[in-house]
Amino acid sequence: MNVQLADQNFVSAVIGAIQNVTGSQPQALHEPRFDGNEKEYLLDCITTGYVSSVGPYVDLFESKLAEITGARHAIAVVNGTAALHICLLLAGVGTGDEVLIPAMSFIATANAVTYCGATAHFIDSQESDLGINVQKLDEYLTRISYKRNGLVINKLTGSIIRAIVPMHCFGHPSNLTDIENLAKKYNLVLIEDAAESLGSTFRGKHTGTFGALGAISFNGNKIVTTGGGGAILTDSDDLASRAKHLTKTARVAHAWDFIHDEVGFNYRMPNINAALGCAQIENLDFEVESKRSLAAKYRRAFEKIEGLSFVTEPDNCKSNYWLQTIILNKDFSKYKEEILRASNQIGISTRPVWKLLNSLPPYLKNPSMDLSGSASLERRIINLPSSAKLDGGKKNA
Ligand SMILES: *Cc1c(COP(=O)(O)O)cnc(C)c1O
Repeated sequence: MNVQLADQNFVSAVIGAIQNVTGSQPQALHEPRFDGNEKEYLLDCITTGYVSSVGPYVDLFESKLAEITGARHAIAVVNGTAALHICLLLAGVGTGDEVLIPAMSFIATANAVTYCGATAHFIDSQESDLGINVQKLDEYLTRISYKRNGLVINKLTGSIIRAIVPMHCFGHPSNLTDIENLAKKYNLVLIEDAAESLGSTFRGKHTGTFGALGAISFNGNKIVTTGGGGAILTDSDDLASRAKHLTKTARVAHAWDFIHDEVGFNYRMPNINAALGCAQIENLDFEVESKRSLAAKYRRAFEKIEGLSFVTEPDNCKSNYWLQTIILNKDFSKYKEEILRASNQIGISTRPVWKLLNSLPPYLKNPSMDLSGSASLERRIINLPSSAKLDGGKKNA
């Protein structure tokens, strides 16, 4: 067999396996599903006139989120980036600090750090769970940092390394036991970027509830959407009331007067978005079960194809499988571009992982550790059409 034919065979086999699961029609990467009470709740907002900052759905959505995640408090905000921004501010991240974040993440993680006047310090990810490579980070921090008055200082920059932000990639929980231990060892505040992982648990506990604070996103492409939206999770009464205050322009309660006691943010989620969220979240279990069932189908379809692996949930975790993912073996990474090109050409929306953040123009000069693990993953990851409806299952009435 000549090489070109072998190449073509591999690319066709991958696309064939996808179509085995999705059928041959064009498919988006992720489409929201609105088959619950969405219309009813949205209409209620319009009928009552409560579409904006006043209305019952925000409180309802927050209490449902708290119930589902087990967090003591959930504070709904305008998007996941705003949630991350407030989490970092409340963690004490400020001008001149460094915050450890994976280079393999969506740019929002780095931007939120930058909004605080701090510097994103990029760390490496590992293939086993697509999360932070904790052992490698531990060795790195031992080498490049020292402790002064309990704070960890970067020897090279002289800055305080204040916090660490693991991100649960594509919904798969990172190893939170290892990350918690590392955060304790280096006195780092732990904040979780759980934007993608609503419905995912690590050892039975919901992601986003391990750190001091966690951020969730309800953007249109996430497992539950409010159109645009996000939430802050915390167990601390004090941080929760600070979060509420800061996200509502720091306005002091008063029957008529406009008193703002600090520079706040207009980050509160509007009632109309929360109404959509209330309807969506009623179906969260069904969405997660559909995604998990879809994953099982993909896994079977890819089983016999050599040269790649289908990403499954890490040990001790339940993943929401927000995005379905294959990782090409190292000698097959040369096929990535052709698989992306050929599948998108016929309407099958496959995607690479984000470009590593340290390679993007605003972040070229930021500090980083060796990122060879992330660089290797960047060359080999392909995300597949992941809409829950592709599973074809029916909701229990
Ligand atoms: C979606 C996402 C965010 C930000 O959410 P928005 O609601 O779009 O602002 C942050 N981090 C990660 C990893 C995400 O996937």
